[in-house]
Amino acid sequence: MVKYKTREEVEIIKESAQILGKAHGEVAKLIKPGVTTLELDRVAEEFIKDHGGSPSFKNFNGFPSSLCISLNENVVHGFPSDYELREGDIISVDCGVFYKSFHSDSAYTYPVGKVTAEVKQLLQVTKESLHKGIEKAVFGNRIGDVAYAIQNHVESFGFGIVRELVGHGLGRDLHESPEVPNYGKRGKGPVMKEGLVIAIEPMINMGTRKVVQEADGWTIRTADRQPSAHFEHTVAVFKEGTEVLTTHKFIEENIKF
Ligand code: MG
Ligand code: MG
Repeated sequence: MVKYKTREEVEIIKESAQILGKAHGEVAKLIKPGVTTLELDRVAEEFIKDHGGSPSFKNFNGFPSSLCISLNENVVHGFPSDYELREGDIISVDCGVFYKSFHSDSAYTYPVGKVTAEVKQLLQVTKESLHKGIEKAVFGNRIGDVAYAIQNHVESFGFGIVRELVGHGLGRDLHESPEVPNYGKRGKGPVMKEGLVIAIEPMINMGTRKVVQEADGWTIRTADRQPSAHFEHTVAVFKEGTEVLTTHKFIEENIKF
């Protein structure tokens, strides 16, 4: 069952998303060789709590951290450690904020220092595919229209689309209906109605789309150990237009690539 949101509820999610966006911005300031991923987690958690929110992921199904940190061949659901970032790494930072009973969810993948042209293209194309998906997330369209837009863009570059993990509705719960896959057919799937709030989150691999789960029980990585990128926004669909509730603005003020 899809739980459609009122304008008032969406306004609260937007407030949650502002805290989230700024927490991402604080993390962005620290991304450089030598910083540990635990330090990123600490800074994000502190910022979220200082602003009246709580980190959505911490203790979610037993997840240990406020951030999902997925490096290089890790796709999603990795967690922070004492690993120090190195020049040439890519790092996906996924974060959620719970504020006034509503969640927001967004992710960004950063290059650490200089990365290869191929990796840069992977990041660029994944981010573009998120925006292609958002363009199709409009009232009266179907989820398949979003999925197809992402797939069509990504596959034209020969990259692999992870199928085992998908975007999702969200609101009072971090994961709600419907599922929002990153591959699919135009005109298929649920119709997007007034008040639908979804997280769109392409997870794109440089090589095979196949993934495996690490022995830690959380981290998902590419089967061929080639790099993977992940970008995510939370959006709300209304007749008058779709609103992107989360923001990467505070990240992009702090990085250049
Ligand atoms: Mg997320
Ligand atoms: Mg999500």
